[in-house]
Amino acid sequence: MLKPANITPEDLGEELAAIIPGKDPELSVSIRRIPVSELDLSSRIIPVCEPTLGGNEKKYVLDCLETNWISSAGKYIPAFEEAFAAKCQARYGVACANGTVALHLALATLGLEPGDEVIVPTFTMIATINAVTYTGATPVLIDSEPETWNMDVNQLADKITPRTKAIIPMHTYGHPVDMDPVMELADKHGLFVLEDAAEAHGAEYKGRRVGSLGHAAGFSFYANKIITTGEGGMITTNDAALADLARNLRDHAFSTERHFWHKYVGFNYRMTNLQAAVGLAQTEQMDGFVENRRRNAALYTSLLKEIPGIVTPPEASWAKNVYWMYSILVQDEFGMTRDQLRAYLAKHGIETRTFFIPLHLQPIYYEKYKGQRYPVAEMLCQRGFYLPSASSLTEQQIRYIVGIVREAYEEAHR
Ligand SMILES: *Cc1c(COP(=O)(O)O)cnc(C)c1O
Repeated sequence: MLKPANITPEDLGEELAAIIPGKDPELSVSIRRIPVSELDLSSRIIPVCEPTLGGNEKKYVLDCLETNWISSAGKYIPAFEEAFAAKCQARYGVACANGTVALHLALATLGLEPGDEVIVPTFTMIATINAVTYTGATPVLIDSEPETWNMDVNQLADKITPRTKAIIPMHTYGHPVDMDPVMELADKHGLFVLEDAAEAHGAEYKGRRVGSLGHAAGFSFYANKIITTGEGGMITTNDAALADLARNLRDHAFSTERHFWHKYVGFNYRMTNLQAAVGLAQTEQMDGFVENRRRNAALYTSLLKEIPGIVTPPEASWAKNVYWMYSILVQDEFGMTRDQLRAYLAKHGIETRTFFIPLHLQPIYYEKYKGQRYPVAEMLCQRGFYLPSASSLTEQQIRYIVGIVREAYEEAHR
C-alpha cells in the first residue's frame, strides 16, 4: 500500500523548522465592546474568501437541467471556452475538470520523457509541481525574487540544461511574472512556456492579459479563485494544434477515424455543461470582480501603510495585479510574529491563510531536493499570510480588519 512521506518540521532541522507555519488558529466571534457601526461585522466570521454568484449562474444552470444537457457536451462548454479565452486575449480555450489537470493536460501535449526537465518556482501551490511529476519529467526548482514574489527570472538562465523542455512561471497571488525575459530565454533554447495562471484571471503584463503571454496557460476555477465553476479549469493558447490535441486527450483520446479507437493514452479531464454554465455567468462578471479586488486592495494598502512592520503586496510599474489574495508580510518591527497576528485576528472572527510552504520543504519532495536552499521563498513562507480577499468584501469590513491589525500592533507595543 502507498506509504506517506513521514517528515515532520523537526526533521528539517532547527532553522527550517522555524519557518513552517503553526496550525490554523481557531476562529471565534468577537465578544469585546465595539462601536455600534461595527456590530454586525463583529458578530460574524469574515471568511478568507468566498464565491460571488449574483449573475446569470442560476438561469444558465436551470437551462441545462431543463434541456437535459448536464454532462460534458452542450452549448455552455464552447460558449464558456470562447468567452473566457477572449477575456485572456487568447484564441483558444480548452475547459477541463480543474486547474491541476489543465496544467497536466498542457504538459501532456509535449510528450515529455523521463529525464526531461521542467523549471518550476519553489514558491507555489503543490499542484504546479505535481502536474510535472505526473508526466514523469523532473521538476527543477527556482527561487522567488523579493520584489514581486514571483519566479526570479535572473536565475533562469542558470537553471537551463540540455534536458530542459519547459518553464512554468506562476503569477503569484495575482501578480504577473516578468514574462519578456522568460520568453526570450525560451525562444533561444526552444523551450515551452506554460503559465500557471490559476491565481491571476484578468492580470496584465505591459498591457497584455495573462493567459496569452506564454505558449499556453492553465487556469483554475476552484471556489476560491477569482471566477469559479465549483471545480474546473481551462487551458488558454494561441496554438491551434495544441488546443486540438489537448481537446482530444481530455476526452480519452477518442480518434475521429472510428469510435473506440485510441492512439494516445488519453484522460477523462472533461468539464460538465453545468459547470460551464456557471463559468459563463462568472466570466460575464469577471471585469467587475477584478475591479472590486483592485479597489479593495488599494483601500487595504492605504490603511495598512500606516502600521509599522506590515509589508503590503507588490505591484510592479509594468503590472496590473488582480490581488487574488490580499497578501502581506509581517516584519519583526510589528512586534508579533505572523502566527501571533493570525491568532489575534482569528479571535476577532477574521479568517486568514498562511503563504505556501515551498516545494523543497514538502514532505513528499523533501528527499529529492534535500540540501537545496531558496532564501526568498523561505522568508515568504515564514512571514506571509493573506487577509480576507473575496470580491464581495465591503469597505466597512476592510476598515474593521485593519482596525484589528492596528489593535494587535498597539497591544504588542504596550
Ligand atoms: C489553485 C491552484 C492550482 C490548482 O487548481 P485546482 O483547480 O485546485 O486543481 C494550481 N496552481 C496554483 C498556483 C493554484 O493556486
